[in-house]
Amino acid sequence: MSSEGRRVYLFGAGRADGSAAMKALLGGKGAGLAEMTNLGIPVPPGFTITTEVCREFYEKGQAPEGLQGEIAVAMRRVEEIAGARFGDPDAPLLVSVRSGARASMPGMMDTILNLGLTSRTVLGLARRTANPRFAWDSYRRFIEMYAEVVLGVRRHDLEELLEARKKARGAASEHDLDADDLRQLCGELTALARANRAGADFPDDPDAQLWGAIQAVFRSWMNPRAIAYRRMYGIPESWGTAVTVQAMVFGNMGRDCATGVVFTRDPNTGERVIFGEYLVDAQGEDVVAGARTPEPISAMQRTLPDAHGELVAVCERLERHYRDAQDIEFTVQQGRLWLLQTRAGKRTARAMVKIAVDLVHEGTIGEDEAVLRLDPDKVDELLHPEVDPCPESEAIAHGLAASPGAAVGRIVFTSEEAQAWAERGEKVVLVRTETSPDDVSGMRVAQGILTARGGLTSHAAVVARGMGKCCVVGAGGVMVDYARQELRTGDVTLRRGDTLTLCGTHGLVFQGAREVRPPRLPDEYETAMAWADARRRLRVRTNADEPDDAARARAFGAEGIGLCRTEHMFFKPDRVGAVREMLLADDEVGRRAALAKIFPMQKGDFAGIFRAMDGLPVTIRLLDPPLHEFLPARREECDEIARETGLDAARLWRKAEALREVNPMLGHRGCRLGMTYPEIYETQVRAIVEAACEVAAGGGHVEPEIMIPLVGHEEELRRMRALCERVAFDVLAERGASLPIAIGTMIELPRACVVADRIAAHADFFSFGTNDLTQTVFGLSRDDAGRFLPFYVEQGLFTQDPFVAIDRDGLGPLLRMAIEKGRAAKPGLKIGICGEHGGEPSSVEFCHQLGLDYVSCSPFRVPIARLAAAQAALREKRGPA
Ligand code: PEP
Ligand code: MG
Repeated sequence: MSSEGRRVYLFGAGRADGSAAMKALLGGKGAGLAEMTNLGIPVPPGFTITTEVCREFYEKGQAPEGLQGEIAVAMRRVEEIAGARFGDPDAPLLVSVRSGARASMPGMMDTILNLGLTSRTVLGLARRTANPRFAWDSYRRFIEMYAEVVLGVRRHDLEELLEARKKARGAASEHDLDADDLRQLCGELTALARANRAGADFPDDPDAQLWGAIQAVFRSWMNPRAIAYRRMYGIPESWGTAVTVQAMVFGNMGRDCATGVVFTRDPNTGERVIFGEYLVDAQGEDVVAGARTPEPISAMQRTLPDAHGELVAVCERLERHYRDAQDIEFTVQQGRLWLLQTRAGKRTARAMVKIAVDLVHEGTIGEDEAVLRLDPDKVDELLHPEVDPCPESEAIAHGLAASPGAAVGRIVFTSEEAQAWAERGEKVVLVRTETSPDDVSGMRVAQGILTARGGLTSHAAVVARGMGKCCVVGAGGVMVDYARQELRTGDVTLRRGDTLTLCGTHGLVFQGAREVRPPRLPDEYETAMAWADARRRLRVRTNADEPDDAARARAFGAEGIGLCRTEHMFFKPDRVGAVREMLLADDEVGRRAALAKIFPMQKGDFAGIFRAMDGLPVTIRLLDPPLHEFLPARREECDEIARETGLDAARLWRKAEALREVNPMLGHRGCRLGMTYPEIYETQVRAIVEAACEVAAGGGHVEPEIMIPLVGHEEELRRMRALCERVAFDVLAERGASLPIAIGTMIELPRACVVADRIAAHADFFSFGTNDLTQTVFGLSRDDAGRFLPFYVEQGLFTQDPFVAIDRDGLGPLLRMAIEKGRAAKPGLKIGICGEHGGEPSSVEFCHQLGLDYVSCSPFRVPIARLAAAQAALREKRGPA
């Protein structure tokens, strides 16, 4: 029979219709069983119904015509191979019915075991095995599963019957119930099922059971658990699940039986040792349910030596065949080993790196393959401490995972308090409704930051990420009450000084102190990253505003700075006053007086960054403060400026009020500030060029690049460039120095993309600011979108938050247009990206495809971007999958 239109694929007795290559059609489980069968590994016979049937099931609302006949034919073949018959009391064949999608979705869909047991076959099984207890227990398990999954009886009601029987017998566990108890319990369970089905009998015909079970497993593709899991891992609904029906083998028929799970390498460390557990005289569900504690696999050498020897040989064989560490499920029935599943084993980040590098050294895979096997997002885990364990169910609040890592500390609500407590050696977590520049000093000393509001590009998120500090933002359920000094979430109230744990990797908040595991890089990390670097075309820079952050990013492999946000340098407490004074000044004289205070500080910072990045390019962006981040929010702040400067507090406050904007993100920011107050940009350019000259004079190699933000019209850039050139020439002339200084622009407004050719005429480089570009293309406020964007993602309207991964459909064409027009006007124009997307793997791949020169991201994301860039190049080389 050709595979065209085939719906049922058999496997057994050393031959299978399918293979590992047919994962899309047979699911991971079906394909794995077929492949193992073809390899001659002992696998109980069975068949797989394809994912296409599942799709048809949902399209038509029923199973395709003729399927039942095909299943009956397949069953007859399984009976022949197994030497048993469905429904035959003398030699009853029992089967399992399991789901299996293309991607593993552990425990999300339904499974039924021991199907084929009826009021007649249970007696046959008892006779044949001479083990009535085993037979009735198997029947009991089957009825429970079938009643719950197929007939919709509540698990709780089924469990109650078991509990009542245990109680009546004074039994501590079901293992203490004898055959007679179990027989009675089976009667009670079927009666309960009948009562739930308006008197219809529990199905006592194996074919009817099978048909009901197959349809129920297809239905479980759309259960809420499976839907939620698919959303979380981006698994398309259209894939559907396959259903595998397979002859049962029993690990619970006595002391020469067992069931277990092994990994061919240690999934925690990656070491080459067989790792796993098994349980004697048990079924797989006993291992999962955790009712009994399994033994380490090494003990099996003693208890079941032959099966253990065979298992070790199978592990080696499967690993060699699949060229990767496997996760294997097995059963031993009366001393004989059977394999029930094999798949690539899930592993920690540490194990992922070690296994990939070891497999290359063992000659199993090549370096390209090893690089492709590393999950860039997972590499991040290696660089941060982790809350371990981190059970979502125990979290008191959920927010957005703004900056990964773990933080344990005592709650403080203000930046001042954070600093005071930190000074006396306390570890603190700063909790705010949202953060502003005033909070930066507190953020710096805190272990982590939690905000009730804000999205992934909000102030708190961007600043914390730059610092490499754990941060959870937009925790919607959290109410911060500054007046009472408490935070409330659900029915939990925590006060100042109470201890809190944050998991920035998953966006979770826990009450009290949880265990934290420090980061440890495996020895193989550098080798793997060197392989990646040799394969990428994109350069990787970092977004850093401080010499320390720059140095750290360099250690992570950054090849320059792609964005130094100068406004972030103003967040320090000794500076924010001067910045406010500048912004609140009535005229140019006032502004220049304030700028004179800022100048030496900026120059010192720039010099520090140039030194840290000696020999590498440094892009410094001129001031781009959304005004609301800097204006004094409270009257007392104006009083303080007045005290320090002698200015009139009431006037300062009036000015602050007058400057307040309705839409600060679309307001007086970016180059608009430079256009209206040119002295600000003049001061900054002078600080940059003087710092560069001084570092160069000291023997350093500097490559300054000055970047103008938020340009929408070419005339803005033409004028700002003229300003920069004038000041730079002045400084160079004063010092008799010569330095190459590039002047370029951010492309972060749709109009800038459309007129990129005209803008390019005045730019030495472009850098895409995809944070603002996403904001303006979607018309989504970066600061407020957190209130509804998660809903859009949850509901599947957006597959991903567009502030996280570049929206290829909406932003993509604009980016392409800007690149084409920019390079047409200026061939070879250097183009990069410095929005937060520059460190997100799928966006990095897109940047590679667009032909950008570099991506720039926060320091801790540099290794992720290096790896993602290498994978993009490798995938391009390999062509479409
Ligand atoms: C951007 O808009 O992408 C960008 C990098 O600038 P900022 O986040 O500072 O607005
Ligand atoms: Mg921007």
